Amino acid sequence: MTTIQGLGDLRGKRVLVRSDLNVPLDGSTITDDGRVRASVPTIKALSDAGARVLVTAHLGRPDGTPDEKYSLAPVAARLAELLGSPVQLASDTVGPDAQRIASGLEDGQVAVLENVRFNVGETSKDDAVRGAFADELAALADVFVSDGFGVVHRKQASVYDIATRLPAAVGGLVEAEVTVLKRLTESPERPYTVVLGGSKVSDKLGVIDNLLDKADNLLIGGGMVFTFLKAQGHEVGKSLLEEDQLDIARGYIEQAKAQGVTLLLPTDIVVAPEFKDEGASVVAADAIPTDQLGLDIGPDSAAAFAEVIRGSRTVFWNGPMGVFEMASFAAGTKAVAQALTQVDGLSVVGGGDSAAAVRQLGFADDQFGHISTGGGASLEYLEGKTLPGLTVLASPSPEGTDA
Ligand code: ADP
Ligand code: MG
Repeated sequence: MTTIQGLGDLRGKRVLVRSDLNVPLDGSTITDDGRVRASVPTIKALSDAGARVLVTAHLGRPDGTPDEKYSLAPVAARLAELLGSPVQLASDTVGPDAQRIASGLEDGQVAVLENVRFNVGETSKDDAVRGAFADELAALADVFVSDGFGVVHRKQASVYDIATRLPAAVGGLVEAEVTVLKRLTESPERPYTVVLGGSKVSDKLGVIDNLLDKADNLLIGGGMVFTFLKAQGHEVGKSLLEEDQLDIARGYIEQAKAQGVTLLLPTDIVVAPEFKDEGASVVAADAIPTDQLGLDIGPDSAAAFAEVIRGSRTVFWNGPMGVFEMASFAAGTKAVAQALTQVDGLSVVGGGDSAAAVRQLGFADDQFGHISTGGGASLEYLEGKTLPGLTVLASPSPEGTDA
């Protein structure tokens, strides 16, 4: 893949950057600007190199037509604050205003194009429709930089098709994510521990499949625990259970044994009579009362998980250990997060809710080796899938700029 440095002298060149600026909004107030912050280094590097920078991104799911609610205006304003220099916002993505702004940019200036998903061509499944829109985007710039890691698993015009139309490079953010994911899949330092939680087994099948033969330890918490406990013949009461995954869970238990992978399930569980933040108690994992549901791993399990994690050189964690959104069921997630901060090696947090959980529980991003910005994209990578937005960058781009 070509990096930004490999693009040569950027002075006077119009560079279209695909960033992931899909921030949560409350009205027009950004409630978490993490993705804007993460996008700044690449945009700044291009601007410092004298490029005329056009940023393209999506916000929400506006359905292919302009919708005030999903305007990138608050994001452009925040970006200007973070860059410490003005950022223009085009009122359309490829229309007259975008063209006017693109041709008026001076070296080092930055502009944001309005929400790319205001155009049906962006996400169309029809190659021709998507391609036609990508042509319009490409007409605005000389070079493309792919820096939206959260969207590289999407075959969309501003992620995929555009890179077949302009000389393309990988941005620093995508490069950093891929470097970490490679370390997790190709040459992890051992012991390598994978911690999985979250709500469902069925969401994580691909990851378990692909990592079960790479990891030394697989720790399972969260809602998926109960399908495993049930598969071992235990009562799980009113806990989350996926009956249709019982055979699969049994298969994983067998496979782990056969491959010498330590599969650790919780030995105690925090239960409550209802899905509510009250009446919590701790029971043995093989003695969950029929009228209770499990909402967190218990303290013994949390301590056991933490010990395995601390003794590892590589840890990948996806999925909260319990319903961390409620205080009575946050301790398991907190213990695991704490242990990750003590790893002597590489610790990676992946997944939207997991990243939110560590921040909500008071941890700082820099206490971890890496917090992935793209939940879906990082999981698909770990499942061993090919990500269209990455493969397209690895193939030779037009005009022979790969050299
Ligand atoms: P991520 O976004 O990090 O991949 P998931 O989306 O898979 O994580 O799961 C997050 C959700 O799982 C959280 O909202 C949490 O409340 C829920 N969860 C965790 N443990 C349980 C449980 N025991 N029962 C029900 N839901 C749970
Ligand atoms: Mg989630």
